[in-house]
Amino acid sequence: MTTNDALIARRARTIGPYSPLFYDEPLHFVSGQGVWLTEASGARFLDGYNNVPHVGHANPRVVQALTEQAACLNIHTRYLNERVLDYSEQLLATFAPGLDRVLYGNSGSEANELAIRIARQLTGATGMLVSDYSYHGTTITLAQLTTGLRTREPLAPHVRAIRVPDLDSDPRPAELVLAAALQDVDDAIAELQEAGFGLAASLFDPLFSTEGMARVPEGYVAGLVDRVRHAGGLVIADEVQSGFGRTGSHMWGHAWAGMDPDLVTLGKPMGNGHPMSAVVTSERVLDEFGSRNEFFNTFAGNPVSAAVGQAVLDEMAAEQLMARAERLGTEARSAFDSLATRHDFVSAAKGVGMFLGLEFALDGHPAPELAKQVVEGVKRRGVLISRIGRHESVLKVRPPLAFGHAELPALLGALGEALDEASSTL
Ligand code: PMP
Repeated sequence: MTTNDALIARRARTIGPYSPLFYDEPLHFVSGQGVWLTEASGARFLDGYNNVPHVGHANPRVVQALTEQAACLNIHTRYLNERVLDYSEQLLATFAPGLDRVLYGNSGSEANELAIRIARQLTGATGMLVSDYSYHGTTITLAQLTTGLRTREPLAPHVRAIRVPDLDSDPRPAELVLAAALQDVDDAIAELQEAGFGLAASLFDPLFSTEGMARVPEGYVAGLVDRVRHAGGLVIADEVQSGFGRTGSHMWGHAWAGMDPDLVTLGKPMGNGHPMSAVVTSERVLDEFGSRNEFFNTFAGNPVSAAVGQAVLDEMAAEQLMARAERLGTEARSAFDSLATRHDFVSAAKGVGMFLGLEFALDGHPAPELAKQVVEGVKRRGVLISRIGRHESVLKVRPPLAFGHAELPALLGALGEALDEASSTL
């Protein structure tokens, strides 16, 4: 029995055989530094996939902040503590005026759950508008509006899931695509109102990541937001994947997409692997919610988390990671565009900043098997990527933001070779 087989058997006997593992032959990492991961065998892999270790695996600034604060004090927010205030001021300074209050949680799911709870209370409505291929978390409320991951929870009656348009796979002219997609929004809202649910909120990832980085027509996001507001709903931007400078040009995906939200949910990269999340909103929204609810979350906003959060923001600033993501993202995107022209089976290059992809299609049909083959081929060359989208036919390249110029050739080289290899099998 190989070591991997033994670990897989132990997993089955303890945490169960159902939590998914990446790759035909799973990887067993024992350490990580920056954008490199080391396997038990000693093999090193370039991380082109993980967005949680945002400023790099085992980042020294984060580790130091965490250990120093943990060695001094960790306590909840029912006592005064300066750390959480320092962090909140630093975090809120990255948002536009009007998004100037923050509530903390410990996971993206908690943040989304809280944002929905706030929206329901403020509007008196329960209706939710979501994408028909998205993921927002693990709670019952969220499972009942999740469409992009297999779940036994049916869509709740108060949820309407609309198809987010994608100009890369829709052959119609952009104006037609836009008009049809906004009509879907109107119809979904009208249905929720007729059924008596009203509209509490829309919940979308501004990059439409799970959807496969959908390239929506100009005017779609603004049209969606207008319609939600007109129906009395709040706009929630799920920035668990799109936030913290991922787009390169903007700190927040909603600003990049022109989404203008009432509530923004943060997670994943926020603590570089330390579990923390947040809902950012306005004074008015917080006052309306806070005056009616005693809200307390035991672990959220503790000084260790706050210290970690500060270290992430400090590291981003010190290493100018956003500017780097913008520069590298532009360079990588043009290389992806060239790969798309070189191979007929690559139907589109997708994404922005350090969130990029290639979409695969054969004879006009999505080609998930080909995408899988390329992900495995890239892995054999020592680089980690994955795939997304409703057909899992879009490569997902979303490395830590600490990814540097020196690593780009390794990523592009592995991808180019794996594409050539896939091409030779057709
Ligand atoms: N929203 C989005 C967009 C996500 O990608 C995820 C996690 N994949 C979540 C919410 C849920 O976050 P968590 O797993 O931290 O609860």
